Amino acid sequence: MIEIMLERIPAALQDKLSKRLSYYEDIGIRLFYRDRTSSAGATALAEEPAATPTIQEEPILPKTARPPVLSKLVSPSPLATSRVDVLPPKPSLFESLNKVANDTLLKIREDIGDCTRCKLHHGRNKIVFGDGNPKAELVFVGEGPGRDEDAQGLPFVGRAGKLLTQMIEAMGLQRKNVYICNVVKCRPPENRTPERDEVGTCSPFLLRQLDVIAPKVIVCLGSVAAQTLLETNRGISHFRGEWLEFRGTKLLATYHPAYLLRNPNAKGEVWKDLQKVMAVLGLEVKKGKSS
Ligand code: URA
Repeated sequence: MIEIMLERIPAALQDKLSKRLSYYEDIGIRLFYRDRTSSAGATALAEEPAATPTIQEEPILPKTARPPVLSKLVSPSPLATSRVDVLPPKPSLFESLNKVANDTLLKIREDIGDCTRCKLHHGRNKIVFGDGNPKAELVFVGEGPGRDEDAQGLPFVGRAGKLLTQMIEAMGLQRKNVYICNVVKCRPPENRTPERDEVGTCSPFLLRQLDVIAPKVIVCLGSVAAQTLLETNRGISHFRGEWLEFRGTKLLATYHPAYLLRNPNAKGEVWKDLQKVMAVLGLEVKKGKSS
């Protein structure tokens, strides 16, 4: 060790240093440490290429032809972040989707037909396409039909649907003023969360619906809708109530009404989210209404 160090030092200095080191050895000091805080050491380290990849705290979303703009989500942090898996894998849902010329809701429904594209068709009773004003300024996107919706062929008509209707009315709107649809059009067995392949197969129809309706605001009800449109697997609590953007349209994610049925304490947060939507739509926000 000492020999290696001495090789890099001029002969005269080597001699001096050698004597000094022998002296230290004689008095029992054998270990020497380099002072890495000295300016020379620091400069040398600063010039070294980073050996390890930078670690990031925010997810990196896939680049798409028309990427959903997650201004808050992707705002660069001083430290970079760990990569979060996205749903679905590349190529992105949006990249692979060709725009349908002169598309209409009727065409989309016809294209869905008596769909057997994914396994959800086995247990379904009725396809739940969507309902409401085809020119709505506000679209609510849920997860997928439940039992009542599957029986009637209409979205959000069960208990969660009744709560959604109340929320819409509290905003000063009527159900027929808005458009309501889901990520998947067929009921998953036992109301389980739709699986990745089912979302991947069905969501192009949702995207066409959103393109045709061209609303001013999209409200995602729950994490499945939000994660699908934003192509992220981050939990909804990370971005609930924040204005995001989906293909040039304002998007806000809030809790699903079914979650509110189980957690009524969260109603206040959802109401605050809906008030933000009302402000953007120019609807009067009545003071004092909290749930
Ligand atoms: N939950 C949903 O996500 N959608 C419906 O249509 C009904 C319940």
